[in-house]
Amino acid sequence: MIKQNETIQADVLVVGGGTAGFVAAIAAARNGAKVILLEQRDHLGGTHSGGMVMMIRSMRHMKAPKSAEHKKVMITSYESSFEDEQLVFSIAQEYIDRMLEVGAAWGMTGQATARQLFDPEIAKWTIERMVVEAGVDVWFYAQVTDVLLSDNTVRGVVVENLKTRTEILAQVTIDATGDGNICAAAGASFEFGDPAEGHCQPMTLYFVMGGVKLDDTLAYIQNHPEEFSQDYVTTVLRLRDEGKPITVLPFKAKIKEALQKGDYPIPYGLKNVNPDTLTYMARPMFRNGKFRYDLISHNMDMAYNVDATDRKELTNATMGMRHVAVRMAAFYRKYVPGYEDAYLVHTAQVVGVRDSRRIVGDCTLNKDDVLAGKHFPDGIGRYGSVVDVHDKDGKQSLMLVEVGGSGWFHIPYRALLPRGVSNLLVAGRCISTDYIAQGCTRSQAACMMTGQAAGTAAALAVKSRVEPRAVNIGQLQKVLASQNQLI
Ligand SMILES: Cc1cc2nc3c(=O)[nH]c(=O)nc-3n(C[C@H](O)[C@H](O)[C@H](O)COP(=O)(O)OP(=O)(O)OC[C@H]3O[C@@H](n4cnc5c(N)ncnc54)[C@H](O)[C@@H]3O)c2cc1C
Repeated sequence: MIKQNETIQADVLVVGGGTAGFVAAIAAARNGAKVILLEQRDHLGGTHSGGMVMMIRSMRHMKAPKSAEHKKVMITSYESSFEDEQLVFSIAQEYIDRMLEVGAAWGMTGQATARQLFDPEIAKWTIERMVVEAGVDVWFYAQVTDVLLSDNTVRGVVVENLKTRTEILAQVTIDATGDGNICAAAGASFEFGDPAEGHCQPMTLYFVMGGVKLDDTLAYIQNHPEEFSQDYVTTVLRLRDEGKPITVLPFKAKIKEALQKGDYPIPYGLKNVNPDTLTYMARPMFRNGKFRYDLISHNMDMAYNVDATDRKELTNATMGMRHVAVRMAAFYRKYVPGYEDAYLVHTAQVVGVRDSRRIVGDCTLNKDDVLAGKHFPDGIGRYGSVVDVHDKDGKQSLMLVEVGGSGWFHIPYRALLPRGVSNLLVAGRCISTDYIAQGCTRSQAACMMTGQAAGTAAALAVKSRVEPRAVNIGQLQKVLASQNQLI
């Protein structure tokens, strides 16, 4: 086969145009670097947009629920809350403001809600506009298949298809692939899953149902306070009246009935489910400036104990999750008032992976750092979301724990530096953390923050002709602060 070979040079190469990657590319370009952004799919935003995770948690500190009942109220009211201290700003806030301008996010310009809802379809377009305006050279359909390495130093990557093999050389490469694919290929150490068994948290394939009459669903909830709790019922109805975001929780009595009749789908990888600990969420989608009470997005744990970096396992799990989505739609139609004539509009374009590799960096952020709200001298931003770890066996509910201390911890710059490898930075859900801390830093606002820090540091490294490890921390913090990030 005759294949064309080409070599291209950039200052900064960002691999993965997802939640962290698009922000990294903008930050590097705005700070003066020539940037190429490589994305294997046909859109930017990754899990944030194509994955249809339509809520950025937490731009603000987020409190933990005091009880199971309180959790229900909290889950539904946090999306419209401006109460607690906002911690993440800069490009993340600018992006939200751009989304607000075109009726693709709910809220107020210049501020974010604790859990910022947005339209994942318009997100793809807004991100494209921002990235292109920053001067980034975007490549879609560009799966990185190899890393160019010499003496533990990343020189660039390879993108290959049947027509062309392209070597892209760069002074700094940023791994924003979510799975730490570039770091792993470069020989960086990583941890995987929970410390006991290496099992990952469950995966999700978001699905959307149309033709829902949500007011009928809410009427059922109103008539069954014993199932949902009176506080939840009062809160959800008030929010609906005020046109604010709402979250609809599982219909446990219906699930029990459907389980008995064999009408409820068991998630991929499990033998049964416990209706009492099940937590999943259904939310009206925000489209063109308003919530659509006929178009409902569903987020539930669907596939257990899957390695997202294993193609065969991921293929089987994806088909397993689509099967669950189709059967869930049938369950809703048959059992849940308001869904009688509802239909499955689509499943998400991107499978929702909560965790896989965690790259071992020069510093590993751990559970104690997060829970104590630890401050680091090389902090690149503040974060204070609840730690949210989904039970890997489906036996218990998800764990939600509040960040202590002053309500936020620093993410240290060293957590973005893969140990033992040069010219490489990592951003997003696979930065250097332990299993529990990742339950916090995997949130989108934190991914955007680490993306911005990695992009900024990469541009500074290029300017100073040093490798990222040698970037002056004081200068990095000064630049981030001057661009409106709280340090
Ligand atoms: C079901 C679910 C619900 C969640 N709920 C919330 C929530 O409500 N709020 C919240 O804030 N967070 C939530 N999260 C967490 C959050 O959405 C993710 O952790 C975050 O979006 C991950 O961002 P990332 O940039 O690390 O990866 P991604 O956004 O997944 O981006 C990685 C990108 O890299 C690309 N890529 C990978 N390998 C290659 C390669 N070899 N070559 C080229 N491109 C490549 C991928 O195509 C993708 O676009 C949820 C996560 C899941 C799974």
